[in-house]
Amino acid sequence: MLYISTRGQTRPHTFTEAVEAGLAADGGLFLPETLPPVRDRLPGWASLSYAELAAEFLSLFAPEISREEWGQLTNEAYQRFDTHEVAPLRKLDDRTYVLELWHGPTLAFKDFALQLLGLLYKRQVRISGKRLAVLGATSGDTGSAAIHGCMGQDGIQIFILYPTGRVAPLQERQMACTGAANVFAIPVPGTFDDAQRVVKDCFGDPAFVREVNLSAVNSINIARVLAQCIYYLWAWLRLPEADRATVEFVVPTGNFGNVLAGWLCQQMGMSCGSFRVATNQNDILHRFFSSGDYQQGAVLPSHAPSMDIQAASNFERYLYYLLEKDQAKVSQLMQSMKRGERVSFPPAVNSFRSSRMSDEEIPDAIRKVWDNYRYIIDPHTACGFTDMAKDRVSVVLSTASPAKFPEIVHVATGSEPLHPSLELLKNRSLKTHPQDATDVAIKFFIRSKLS
Ligand SMILES: *Cc1c(COP(=O)(O)O)cnc(C)c1O
Repeated sequence: MLYISTRGQTRPHTFTEAVEAGLAADGGLFLPETLPPVRDRLPGWASLSYAELAAEFLSLFAPEISREEWGQLTNEAYQRFDTHEVAPLRKLDDRTYVLELWHGPTLAFKDFALQLLGLLYKRQVRISGKRLAVLGATSGDTGSAAIHGCMGQDGIQIFILYPTGRVAPLQERQMACTGAANVFAIPVPGTFDDAQRVVKDCFGDPAFVREVNLSAVNSINIARVLAQCIYYLWAWLRLPEADRATVEFVVPTGNFGNVLAGWLCQQMGMSCGSFRVATNQNDILHRFFSSGDYQQGAVLPSHAPSMDIQAASNFERYLYYLLEKDQAKVSQLMQSMKRGERVSFPPAVNSFRSSRMSDEEIPDAIRKVWDNYRYIIDPHTACGFTDMAKDRVSVVLSTASPAKFPEIVHVATGSEPLHPSLELLKNRSLKTHPQDATDVAIKFFIRSKLS
């Protein structure tokens, strides 16, 4: 099993190499050369625990890691979740289920991938004997999940940049109140894009990258996509058999990473009905799936901030399949998009539906779900609760705990969701390392922490 770049100008990598590199050298994203079929394996997987299912699935993608070692890695990653089911599937009524993806340490679905990625980094340090500096920028959830995947691990230091005053207070606390000596939460002036640019500039200095053994944590690592496939299989196996072939997975989306994972499962033989790409007012993907046009606009801040994205980076992976694996064409289209040009694609998208929720509708959606089911959802999950399919079962992926967004949930339902881990954070002292938004400042800071 080897990994190729969507743009075709990078030599094939093993799983371990692709995970370490993150982005391919030609600017493309890694994908498995072929997708292993899972259809015949699914019946045998129905009785496995979440960690066992993860180990079976991931073994298909990384033969260089033994099944036994995968078992250890997935056990360690998912035992940190606060329920033995890891991803509980809740039934709201005969046609509506919610897949709760927020029982990990930072209460959002990114823990599924980043707990595992942290352990893969640890394995890499053990094998290479070289310490690792992990660097990333975040608008909230990715940074805290990455920190919780790496904290306390020998040989790893993690540096996360975020825009001062622009992440939710609880998200900042999740990054800056860990008390772990290898974690550095770094507020920088400006926006998320400024923080992201500084990170890119650091990676643009190959001598520095080698000197400190710098590794990127961002949304495009192939390990993240594969780790996210597992909960689709898990949920599908828990549905009544009669509903499996037609079920619609509803996925609150920004970067297209989460829904791509589900669609890959379908390509591998998990026979399901459709996927609904559920956007907030940043609706580039909704416009694409409803009209075939893909054009970036300005990002509008919303109640569902982790979906405030206008450049869905994982979309390139889907494009590769949509363009029938024509890598030259993928490169060409990505260049046009980068220039801000409007591009149109063949509408070969029958597995997908899409929906959009305006910001004003989000509190209403939270209220309706509360009124109908006495069940509280967060503002990201809320974006899925519109335009429900009438003729089949829906599984709405719930991407964050409502306790992460207490203000809007309170406005909508009159009650304030609490979570013990967040309550603990409120009493801890905040330790941040503010820096200028320049690569010079960040490189200096990283070096000072390594010596
Ligand atoms: C990251 C995130 C999303 C969007 O996920 P993508 O993979 O970018 O589509 C949705 N909800 C929450 C809570 C998130 O943290």
